[in-house]
Amino acid sequence: MELKCKIQTYDWGRYGIDSTVATLVKSANSDFTLDEKKPYAELWMGIHPNGPSYVKELDMSLEKYIKKNNNVLGTDVQKIFGEHLPFLFKVLSVNKALSIQAHPNKEKAKELHQQYPTIYKDANHKPELAIALTPFEALCGFRPISEIKEFLKVLPELRTVIGEDKVYKFMATDEASVSRALKTCFHSLMTCDSGLVALQLRKLLDRLSNLDESLRQFLLASSLERLYSNYPGDVGCFGIYIFNFITMQPGEAIYIGPNEPHAYLSGDCVECMACSDNVVRAGLTPKLKDVPTLIEMLTYNCEPVSAKKFQPSREDECTEVFRPPVLDFAVAKITIPPGRSYYDIIPRSTASILIIINGKGEISSSKILYRGSVIFIPANEKIGIKVLCGCHPMLMFQAFVNI
Ligand SMILES: [Zn+2]
Repeated sequence: MELKCKIQTYDWGRYGIDSTVATLVKSANSDFTLDEKKPYAELWMGIHPNGPSYVKELDMSLEKYIKKNNNVLGTDVQKIFGEHLPFLFKVLSVNKALSIQAHPNKEKAKELHQQYPTIYKDANHKPELAIALTPFEALCGFRPISEIKEFLKVLPELRTVIGEDKVYKFMATDEASVSRALKTCFHSLMTCDSGLVALQLRKLLDRLSNLDESLRQFLLASSLERLYSNYPGDVGCFGIYIFNFITMQPGEAIYIGPNEPHAYLSGDCVECMACSDNVVRAGLTPKLKDVPTLIEMLTYNCEPVSAKKFQPSREDECTEVFRPPVLDFAVAKITIPPGRSYYDIIPRSTASILIIINGKGEISSSKILYRGSVIFIPANEKIGIKVLCGCHPMLMFQAFVNI
């Protein structure tokens, strides 16, 4: 069954035809008018109340359809999650940085929802998996201690904002107790007077503009300049020296578990998460910041970029699957190579949502799927795809429950 899905026009999205979200929707929906002046940030596929999907031919919400026909979820999903599709599947087109954020675990989410129901609107955790569609930049997790120390040595502006005394202690702390010292530094950075932050950022930018290219590259000058132009004076700009700066090529992925700091900076990706909208923000955002909660909940684990990339496992010649360590979701990447005219999609024991990113095909029910088509597949349903345009690989992503 084909779905009609909600577009979110958040201000950080890519504009007009530069947005993969917009071009996907345009390609599959002839009645969609693309506005060059709008930021098309996210496409939501699922039943979340902030952007529910509809079953096209029935003109009924997917949530209602599932409630009426709960066998489509699969028996194990019903046992574990009740009558709900437990994941939210998305496409993101990022023009400028999204906030520095983390998502609570289940316990913390319950607590936050109880205390501040208007800010944290549901009681669910929100682990996330992002798979790049175009070169994609993100901040993810704290850098290895040696890298943070290296930056602190050469950035007096950052030392001033954190406080020389705390930096001194951090530099002298051994590996065993370093995460506590890092937390103290991070707390000090995030709660620093905004006037002092703005002044030191300005100073740093002036200094960077006079350095030679190799030093500028080492100090991530162009990334800092880009962040600053979007969020002038925001303490989050210093985040590039503390968090891993990750560049993913198309097909590469990161998994973000609970309490892990991250920020998406630019590019397009597909993203899957537990069905929740709980975000604790602390920088690079005009939205509400909840700095004390973020500082308390973060994991202060320091790992290199290589540990952040998440590897798929291969199921057959066309399908790789990303299975994060949670039950809520998994994502299959299906690539039908040029020259192959038919492929049987691997049946799943749970309901799933599939989006076509490239190519054109016909499915069992003689329905034509285009780039941007989104379909809901009931549990255990067998679906074969006849490729209708075989000169390029046909690329699809399918989200299902990880049980
Ligand atoms: Zn997130």
